[in-house]
Amino acid sequence: MKNKKTEPKRILEQTLERLYTSKQRSPNTMFVLLLLLYFTATAIVSYSAGSKSTVMIAGTELPVYTFAGVFSSLAHICIIFLAVFYGRTGFIVALALLIFQMPMILTGIVRGKNLTSLPGVFGDIVAIIAVTVIHLNHKKLDIYEKKLRDQAMIDILTGLPNRFACSELVTEFVRRKIPYATVSIDLNGFKSINDSMGFDSGNEVLVNVAERWKRIADEGLSGTLDFIARLGGDEFVLLIRNYRSEEDILKTIGKYEEVLGDRLNVFGNDFYVSASFGYALFPEDADNIDSMLSYATAAMREVKHAGGDGGVLRFRKDMLNTERTLEVEKRIRASLEDDTVFFALQPQYDMDHRLRGFETLARMKDDDGSVISPMEFIPIAEKVGLIDRLDLAVYRKSAAFIGRLIKETGSGVTLSINVSVRHLMKDTFADEIRGLLESSGIPAKQLELEITESIMIESMDKAMNCINEIKKMGVLIAIDDFGTGYSSLSYLNSFPADLLKIDKSFIDKMNTGSSAKQYVAAIISMGHILGFDVISEGVEEQEQLETLREIGCDYIQGYIWGRPLPPEEAEKILKAEG
Ligand code: C2E
Ligand code: CA
Ligand code: CA
Repeated sequence: MKNKKTEPKRILEQTLERLYTSKQRSPNTMFVLLLLLYFTATAIVSYSAGSKSTVMIAGTELPVYTFAGVFSSLAHICIIFLAVFYGRTGFIVALALLIFQMPMILTGIVRGKNLTSLPGVFGDIVAIIAVTVIHLNHKKLDIYEKKLRDQAMIDILTGLPNRFACSELVTEFVRRKIPYATVSIDLNGFKSINDSMGFDSGNEVLVNVAERWKRIADEGLSGTLDFIARLGGDEFVLLIRNYRSEEDILKTIGKYEEVLGDRLNVFGNDFYVSASFGYALFPEDADNIDSMLSYATAAMREVKHAGGDGGVLRFRKDMLNTERTLEVEKRIRASLEDDTVFFALQPQYDMDHRLRGFETLARMKDDDGSVISPMEFIPIAEKVGLIDRLDLAVYRKSAAFIGRLIKETGSGVTLSINVSVRHLMKDTFADEIRGLLESSGIPAKQLELEITESIMIESMDKAMNCINEIKKMGVLIAIDDFGTGYSSLSYLNSFPADLLKIDKSFIDKMNTGSSAKQYVAAIISMGHILGFDVISEGVEEQEQLETLREIGCDYIQGYIWGRPLPPEEAEKILKAEG
């Protein structure tokens, strides 16, 4: 058990040790060279010390024993270098050599009755003192360094390991392919504690919670190997190892959740805290460190988003979209707030390339100035209940623009607007359209609502009254994305539409096989029998255009004759029509 609870910490220690020592280590060859030099110098010393002969250098005759002092100093320098550059090992080797050398010199003095080596003994003693001082200094530096290292690893407020420690440990897990779970934890309602009771209280709560969690991790109370760290604010991360199944993980998380249940007294005030937990598993959910934490956090956010009082969720791929959804939702709100939603106009033509009108398509910019696709933001606006505001902004702006052009030129073009089911279902919808006609001055028969086929099927009865009311105003109704739903003939027959809009997916397939072409031909015939005009959307190629002509389509909309355009461009096209 004892070994168990400290294992993650041990791994962390080892990792750091390696991290630090690898930076300091001097090359081993240098170590060997210093030793060789030392032994050579010592050999020369012991030979020269007892020698009575002389050598001639630069015309002067010198006794050989005078060289002993020079080489003895060289040997000492080698030893000091060992102690300076090779830490503990260097110190032990240096000390051993010096201590070993001492009796040798002393024996030489006694046996040879030769006192010339006496300075060597003092030299040795001085060297022993020097290497000891160097070593003690090293130790002091080590302690200081360890303190610094700990400080870089520890969150000052709570004493828990910090983000850096956590990422070092996780790097090691990944390197050694050790399976682990990352649990992202966020306290619920912490901001309100901070706001209402002040930072000191908030900090006390954090310290208290950290103490409880640290106990579980340090004492191995959960049954798994845990490591708890604080990332900042009220964000914590728990790393779990040695679990047998996901159940173990949930049990462990349960333990951490459970200790939050006890009342917490801070400066005389009682608090109850709870937290939201999200987790991801290595290597099942992610195979790299960055994704692990962001996935766990995505799962935790999902818990928060669901509201309630905490809970636990494992990461799922679709949670990533939640993050993006939240981002886009924020963008939509901001664009509505500062009124920067805009529109593009895509021309619709008859088969002789005469302008029928324009479909208005919503546009919105992201924070970085790039355009977000309506395929992305429209479904989100629908989901979060902003679609009616968004639709209205687009309707108002484009209707004002086209209304002005109609007044100026007397043109008979239609303006087609897209309607979302959520929007259509609002009691105010018909009034909004009435208001739109009034404010823009567009004649009712020149405004067209594009309603998707799927809306009709899902919400026929409820939508019908509203559609009939609008129809009575004289506004045109188009069935959008036709072919993708399953509306029955009887439904279609009773639906007060003026136009069928064949979905792009059928036009795409049309020239790849005869069945798709026949299908489109059948839709067109059926539309005509029911009394509707038919328009094909997403026409890109000449071949498609010719086929559509051949099978009797009335109108087309597509890149072949016109992409969605900025209003000024659309204005030019309208005016060129004359
Ligand atoms: P939709 O109503 O089916 O609109 C047609 C989409 O097909 C537009 O995409 C248009 O740019 C694209 N398109 C047209 N011709 C071609 C072509 O030849 N090739 C290709 N590849 N694409 C073509 P967009 O603008 O991205 O709009 C996507 C959808 O977003 C629309 O599909 C519509 O359902 C929705 N939407 C756009 N604006 C609004 C709006 O103001 N309100 C609502 N409720 N929905 C909107
Ligand atoms: Ca449309
Ligand atoms: Ca479509």
